[in-house]
Amino acid sequence: MIYSFFLGFQPIPLLLPVLSSLGAQSKIVGEAFAALQQMLFETTFPWLPLATFLLSAVILGRSLCGWVCPFGFIQDLLAYIKRRHKEVSADSHRSLIKIKYFILGVILFVSATLSAALVAKVGEPYKNALGPFAQTPFNVLSPSDTLFAVVPKMIFNLRFAIYEQNFQEIMLGIAAFPPLLWIRIFILGAVLILAAYIPRSWCKYFCPNGALMALLSRFSFLGLKREITKCTRAECRICIEACPMKVRITELGWEKFSDSECIYCLKCVDECPTKAIKLKFP
Ligand code: SF4
Ligand code: SF4
Repeated sequence: MIYSFFLGFQPIPLLLPVLSSLGAQSKIVGEAFAALQQMLFETTFPWLPLATFLLSAVILGRSLCGWVCPFGFIQDLLAYIKRRHKEVSADSHRSLIKIKYFILGVILFVSATLSAALVAKVGEPYKNALGPFAQTPFNVLSPSDTLFAVVPKMIFNLRFAIYEQNFQEIMLGIAAFPPLLWIRIFILGAVLILAAYIPRSWCKYFCPNGALMALLSRFSFLGLKREITKCTRAECRICIEACPMKVRITELGWEKFSDSECIYCLKCVDECPTKAIKLKFP
């Protein structure tokens, strides 16, 4: 986890292409996707977040999704606790992975058009019409923000009532939540339940940050290779079944593959009985 609250570190001025939270007080690094939206809102070219995305994706593929993202970690934890998972058919999977690109497209469209309108000095009505979605459209409903910033703040605000077990005050506090907060809590709950049944379902199907990384990491230096002499793919699908991102490993090249969905969790490497899969760089 990358929170200074747990580790006792001071925040550092570093952006990473992972979901943490725009609102958490005690984080060490910033969220590049939130910074990208914020800079567009401030009519500044988002060179720093874009460079962060590009460099990470080209050098490391989506490995930060596999090893650094706190929201990815939460999903892994839930899938580990739940153990028995639901299978998504190959056809449904192929359709569902398009959702995250659609979400990414909508967010970039809103941020970029608002930015252009503000630069042209005709953006105020558009900005007012967007309301809370004007500044950082994704983070207004992001389940990661809800989990790491909004829920802790909610609990903090109700701390005295919780400590005193004053249920009436707790219920009054909860009843006063604005509609947007209820929507946030509903989305977070749905995402977490889904992640327990379908490992990394948020990452595979909905995360716009993951979608941007997937688009950019197609030709990353980091990849995997499958040794032709060791892989007995005709009889065995163990690596595919182990993969939380449903990468069709045995249908990809031998020498190197850097699939856009691969988060380099290395579960396929661990599970392969003949140790045929290895990391490859570059
Ligand atoms: S896809 Fe999104 S939520 Fe999943 S690990 Fe990557 S940044 Fe985090
Ligand atoms: S199991 Fe292998 S192919 Fe699947 S995401 Fe992890 S490293 Fe990538």
